[in-house]
Amino acid sequence: MSLGAMQDWTMRISHVIDHAAREAPTREIVTRWADGSETRTNWAGIHRDARKMAQALQALGLKPGDKVASLAMNHSRHLVSWFGVAGMGGVLHTCNPRLFEEQLEYIVGHAEDKVMLYDAAFQPIIDKMRDQWPTVEHYICFDPPEGSDATAFEDWIGAQSGEFEWVAGDERDPCMICYTSGTTGNPKGVQYEHRSTVLHALAGLQPSTFNFSASSVMLPVVPMFHAASWGLPYAGAMAGIKFVFSAVNDPAVLDEMMKKEGVTDSAGVPTVWLAHFQYCDANDIELPKLRAATIGGSAAPRFMIERLMKNGTRVQHAWGMTETSPIGTVGGPTADWDEMTFDQKVEKTMKQGRPIFGVELRTVDLDDRTKVLPRDGEASGALQIRGPWVVKRYFKAEEDALTADGWFDTGDVAILHPDGTMQITDRTKDVIKSGGEWISSVELENAAVGHPAVAEAACVGMFHPKWDERPVLFVVKKEGKDCTAEEVVNFLSDKVAKWWLPDAVEFVDDIPHTATGKISKKDLRDRFSDYTLA
Ligand code: AMP
Repeated sequence: MSLGAMQDWTMRISHVIDHAAREAPTREIVTRWADGSETRTNWAGIHRDARKMAQALQALGLKPGDKVASLAMNHSRHLVSWFGVAGMGGVLHTCNPRLFEEQLEYIVGHAEDKVMLYDAAFQPIIDKMRDQWPTVEHYICFDPPEGSDATAFEDWIGAQSGEFEWVAGDERDPCMICYTSGTTGNPKGVQYEHRSTVLHALAGLQPSTFNFSASSVMLPVVPMFHAASWGLPYAGAMAGIKFVFSAVNDPAVLDEMMKKEGVTDSAGVPTVWLAHFQYCDANDIELPKLRAATIGGSAAPRFMIERLMKNGTRVQHAWGMTETSPIGTVGGPTADWDEMTFDQKVEKTMKQGRPIFGVELRTVDLDDRTKVLPRDGEASGALQIRGPWVVKRYFKAEEDALTADGWFDTGDVAILHPDGTMQITDRTKDVIKSGGEWISSVELENAAVGHPAVAEAACVGMFHPKWDERPVLFVVKKEGKDCTAEEVVNFLSDKVAKWWLPDAVEFVDDIPHTATGKISKKDLRDRFSDYTLA
């Protein structure tokens, strides 16, 4: 094989943190801790501590390929671990503390985690799970309270000199593992590679993705334990941005930190933005003036996009999944943006954006998966994806998770538009088949939450003797607000096709959610298993 004349430069995470420390050493990393205290470090400090941590892991006897778990919120010490573990050749397993006990037992055992790094807030989980995690040999607490006998992270790394050479290896070595929190069966592990992570982070830097520059100040609300925090820590290090972390997800704290620290960018699931709106409204204060807000994980509803845009914030509606590292598509201004009316811009932003370079998308017929659908803005089908940061095989699985011709089936249903915009219309498991035609449960939900009295809505297909399935909408009312089923249906009548209108609207006190905050239709169906349409 003939090679070109360029230098060898293995795509490893260590280059990312070396770069941040060299080019943006004094750019700050601020943390607001669970106890209300604040600390400040910078990229040089993260680099120094990551080397100490890598050394400390070696001192415990860890070898390249070994797994280190974390059960932690967003903060600078967690960030250190992202680089420290990868830097000694290890694999960081970010665990979601909201998983059920059986799932936590399963994922730590399945990954064979050797070290558990955790926040003091999760001490009760640690105490409960310890006996069920036989592979874990060492427990280290990020923020032990005074008088605790837990090993403190700062003391543990503080015992090292930091004189450490990053462990070299192949760029296809694993560096991180995240488990999906599927609603059925055991969670599945997705192993990210050094190379896939570096490529994904480079893609994250594009103006049409996170649009980071040296002046960016990012407060990521998306947790470090979910889908690699959308790759933000790596992309942020590449651009040398200032990070502001909050170890608590309280809108009052987030609001204060955003305003006090000059935050320009933030990222989170729709419920996070909703909580922020409610906090500002209840206290009669203005929303922070952000430059950009990335929303993903579930569909961003119209009123949310409108409100943020009216506040001068660019809304980046993103789609992705744990299996895709996670970014697949991101919305942002398109070539025709300046000619569009405000409403047209909102309409466009409600769709999930366009694929970033490295991601290829296609849709196939829901009934005949061999039939690839046109990108005509109308045909709705099973969304499939391929690219260098898309899963090939789940951790320890015996077979690849791909179609015969090499695509990963996302489980989402989508429409591809001629200008490349992708629009999620449902999950394949949730789409409603009525009289042989498909109804999007997601579109009905999105439309319903626009009603001033509706706090949350979930739509499921219920058995119907004539049509097979018909939509039923479950609604949680906003506190202090009232509405009738008829009013909700009337409200929807000019927003969706007539035959999509729900056959029933049921008011409920709450709607079940998964560990990542998404509506759990499976639990909802279980809860209403005896439901019959009159
Ligand atoms: P997870 O792996 O937990 O991040 O979940 C990924 C799933 O979340 C996707 O397959 C979609 O069903 C859903 N999802 C992510 N982003 C969006 C979005 N912007 N709009 C609608 N659904 C989304």
